Amino acid sequence: MGAGADAANLYNCLMNFVEIAIPFFILAMVVELAYGAWKKNQTYRLNDAVASLMMGSLSQLVGVLRLSFAAVVFAGAVELLGVVAWTPEHWWHWVAAFVAYDFCYYWKHRFGHEWRIMWASHSAHHQSEEYNLSTALRQTSTDYIGFVFYLPMYLAGTPAYVMISVGTLNLVYQFWVHTQHVDRLGVLDYLLVTPSNHRVHHAKNSSYIDKNYGGFFIIWDRLFGTFCDERKDEKPIYGITHGLRSWNPLWANAIVWWHTLILAVKAPRWRDKFAVWFKGPGWFPQGLEPRDADSVGWADQYNPSVPQSTKTYVFLQYVVLTAAGFALTAVQGDLARPGVLAVFGLIAGSMYVVGLWLEHRSYRFVVDLGRALLLISAGLWMPLLAANGEGTTWVMQSLGLANLVLLALLYRLQLSERSVAALS
Ligand SMILES: [Zn+2]
Ligand SMILES: [Zn+2]
Repeated sequence: MGAGADAANLYNCLMNFVEIAIPFFILAMVVELAYGAWKKNQTYRLNDAVASLMMGSLSQLVGVLRLSFAAVVFAGAVELLGVVAWTPEHWWHWVAAFVAYDFCYYWKHRFGHEWRIMWASHSAHHQSEEYNLSTALRQTSTDYIGFVFYLPMYLAGTPAYVMISVGTLNLVYQFWVHTQHVDRLGVLDYLLVTPSNHRVHHAKNSSYIDKNYGGFFIIWDRLFGTFCDERKDEKPIYGITHGLRSWNPLWANAIVWWHTLILAVKAPRWRDKFAVWFKGPGWFPQGLEPRDADSVGWADQYNPSVPQSTKTYVFLQYVVLTAAGFALTAVQGDLARPGVLAVFGLIAGSMYVVGLWLEHRSYRFVVDLGRALLLISAGLWMPLLAANGEGTTWVMQSLGLANLVLLALLYRLQLSERSVAALS
């Protein structure tokens, strides 16, 4: 089997796993939401949860762009070096692979915080100022470098299906630790990554920052000096020190890349232009140190208020966008590539529009109207991109029309809300 076929198999396996796990994730979030309401300790905010979930969807959807070269590099390296793959014959082979993967994950995650070139991607997971199961699904869309941390396992002859099995098991495990409803767990807190240990990892309190990088075992942190226990007298404040203060999922993925690029361009010394990518987010090139070292109001949450009609509209948009994402993933093999890319662009653009509504921007109606018109006119431009896209075009036109009606309703509603507000 050639490298290309290997890569395709790897890609399919990954996609399938995610499809299987999603209903479980949704159910768990509904249970956590209900439990929070019952206990009068709600840890969800609509704007934050929608932003996190949109980023989760986007991180899966970028797969249709087929930009990832990890599988090709793995297969190529294995073939080039003539590595002979081993076959797991005993249960402990699987356990060894799981432990080795977790060890690689620790280092990948640690450098995800200690090098800007890795933090640029990983920061997306940490931007939420809430901490709940939706935070677990807040994933990066730009993880194109991190795979190198698993290269040693491939070079040791670990077959791709073993890597996928132990890797996805590790991923599923990490989902449940993103909750505030589970307190300390005794001996488990010493051995494993638990909700308490991972809350510390997501906190921006100065005593908690850059701690607890583990994925499954917390023992790596204890061994390599990055462990920190959650304390009763120090409540975690979630998020990143220089907050995102935006609900735009595209900007959330780009912000650290952009800021690092600016620093590299502006750095007066040549060696700093290179070094900035391999230093932590707190390091700055000589002459470019920020003046606001102590960020003011660092514990203030970004929470612009919006009318109830916006909240309902955003939730509806989120449901439709998620469905559209699944549909695109399903039909991507049948639809011509330019058509796939156009639909991807529309979904990603729609996520930006949802962000505008959550931020209550004055131009939200105009941009959204533009999107509706683009969808309605799909009959004109889609056939140029994908001759076989009639079904997709029809769905886009219907959605565009429905959105136009909704926008008209929303405009009337928010106009009257505004006049009520002006009178009172
Ligand atoms: Zn992290
Ligand atoms: Zn996390």
